[in-house]
Amino acid sequence: MLWDSNQTRIQRIRLVAQCVAGVFLFIGLMYWAAGLWRVGLVLTLGAAGVAYSTHQGLLQHSQRGVAGILWVVWATISALMWLSEGLRDASVLAYPIILLLAGLLLGRKRYLRFLVAMLVFVVVLTVSTEVTGWRQNTSNSNNWELLRDVVIILLACAFIVWMTVADWRRMIAALEAQIESYRQSQAHLLFLSQHDALTGLTNRSRGRHLLEQAITQARVDGTGVALMFIDLDNFKFINDSVGHVAGDEFLRQIAIRLSTAVRDTDIVVRQSGDEFLVGLLDVPDSQSACSAATEVLDHLGGVYTVRGTALSSTCSIGVARFPQDGADFETLLRHADLAMYQAKQAGRNTFRLFDVRMQDGLSTNPRLVAEMRSALQRGEFELHYQPVVDLTTQRLLGAEALVRWHHPRRGMLAPADFIPAAEHSGLIVDIGRWVIEEACRQTARWRNSGHALVVAVNISPVQCQRGDLTLTVHSALARASLPGTCLELEITESVLMGHVSTFAETVRGIKAMGVSIAIDDFGTGYSNFGYLQQLAADKIKIDQSFVRSMLMQTNQHAIVTAIIQMGKSLGMRSHAEGVESAETCALLVDMGCDIGQGYWFGAPSSAVAFTKRFLGSPPLPQVP
Ligand code: C2E
Ligand code: MG
Ligand code: MG
Repeated sequence: MLWDSNQTRIQRIRLVAQCVAGVFLFIGLMYWAAGLWRVGLVLTLGAAGVAYSTHQGLLQHSQRGVAGILWVVWATISALMWLSEGLRDASVLAYPIILLLAGLLLGRKRYLRFLVAMLVFVVVLTVSTEVTGWRQNTSNSNNWELLRDVVIILLACAFIVWMTVADWRRMIAALEAQIESYRQSQAHLLFLSQHDALTGLTNRSRGRHLLEQAITQARVDGTGVALMFIDLDNFKFINDSVGHVAGDEFLRQIAIRLSTAVRDTDIVVRQSGDEFLVGLLDVPDSQSACSAATEVLDHLGGVYTVRGTALSSTCSIGVARFPQDGADFETLLRHADLAMYQAKQAGRNTFRLFDVRMQDGLSTNPRLVAEMRSALQRGEFELHYQPVVDLTTQRLLGAEALVRWHHPRRGMLAPADFIPAAEHSGLIVDIGRWVIEEACRQTARWRNSGHALVVAVNISPVQCQRGDLTLTVHSALARASLPGTCLELEITESVLMGHVSTFAETVRGIKAMGVSIAIDDFGTGYSNFGYLQQLAADKIKIDQSFVRSMLMQTNQHAIVTAIIQMGKSLGMRSHAEGVESAETCALLVDMGCDIGQGYWFGAPSSAVAFTKRFLGSPPLPQVP
């Protein structure tokens, strides 16, 4: 309907109505003056009626109000015709104008009512004049012919008005539809510029803006804000195993769960791929931040049904708070990221609040690098050994050597606290060389006392690229008089990315000495089976995040089964990390996994403690 309550239109109608009322009054007064009081009275009443109905009708802002004004005009004109010359009176010319206005401003029913009223009136007028004599014929000409002409003109006029108005309405509707679709596409564009297309969450740039605003507001109000950095554990593996379409659907479900895990007032952002940010507003203390992080862990954990497949995922969260951990968004983001990294290092599916001590482990911390350099000379590094067990026979096969740093001020540091800095500075080549040499020395000691163990050493990607690994391994074995079969090198999939052909050469040299190769943390990186084949790796170490949650989550169970099967078909042994319970151990045996490692068998400990605990008797817990 063309009627709307916009102010311009109302003003126009009011103006036209006021003009009509003015004209009625003016002509009415002229008739009064000429002594024709009846016509004068009708016009004066008409003027008053139009003025009144204009006031009332426009107050209502509806078609009914406008129809009221037109009915008053119609009644005044009709009365004039009745009192004066009937169909010959010039006022009949107002009928087409009323029709035009009714067509423009009113709906079809009201328009037709006007047309019918006009036709009925002209017929009644003529019948009253010609047949019943209620009205006196003021002229001698034939009123029936005149009625025919007036009716034809009125019908023609009504038809033309209706057609024109219908066309006009169609045009306006098309125009309005275009304007609406333009508005919608503008709104859509605005939405896209501020939201992530896949999940519908706030996107990175808008998220940054909102979080900066929240920090500014918190500064004014004296309240706290917590920034949560959330990274999904093992998303890459899920994406690769179920495909990208299902991976996208999985991310959408993650986004929904994440949004329900926090309050409506909090800011949820998709930072990139499988990384999300949550800005928690009004966070009074670290306890509230911890509860919120626990809530998010709970919501994001569990099973997801994606295209008929049950998947499960966990996440690692780092939390940094304003104002304690940073005064601006950049700093908070960096610190939350660092805390998240610590959560990953702590075994995933957990959260960490930022602590300034975490910065000491930053890969670019020059003080830490300087301290590390002298630590090597002062002999502050130590290797801890974690037992590695044959799952079927329960026999101790060997150990994984894990480096520790006895820092003079900070106590014993875990690899996560200093390996990144060592890798960034290149010091890892020297530290790694020491680790290989020390592991060979210890293995030789055990061997000389009758324990033939295989000791595994972790190799950093930097060592592979920069150090002469083959030479290092060769001289370490030679110096310890140890056969290569007693040593194993653990490399992560990231080592292989983009360097597989160059590294394959090094691996061939190392394997020629009898040293075995294991792929560490399998499933958390690129999981490219082609690499495994090209390298002729001997063993796959299934990442502990899959193994630890295997009992609870069916899809982790499925992943572990798939890795074991794949290993078998490629002729590799499978080695489960993170075995923490007898149930997990028994399940792994059922699944056909060859080797196990984890707290159930023993945590990493010094060489002395390891010797005492595992090379005495009884050495290992028994599988039920
Ligand atoms: P990784 O090679 O995967 O080592 C296993 C990590 O899991 C060890 O942490 C170990 O303490 C922990 N772990 C073992 N069993 C369990 C369990 O049942 N449950 C849980 N929750 N955790 C368990 P750690 O010693 O902190 O080492 C962390 C990582 O640091 C290692 O992961 C390895 O990538 C790196 N790393 C350790 N030593 C060296 C080294 O000498 N050189 C290099 N380049 N990296 C090293
Ligand atoms: Mg390892
Ligand atoms: Mg590992």
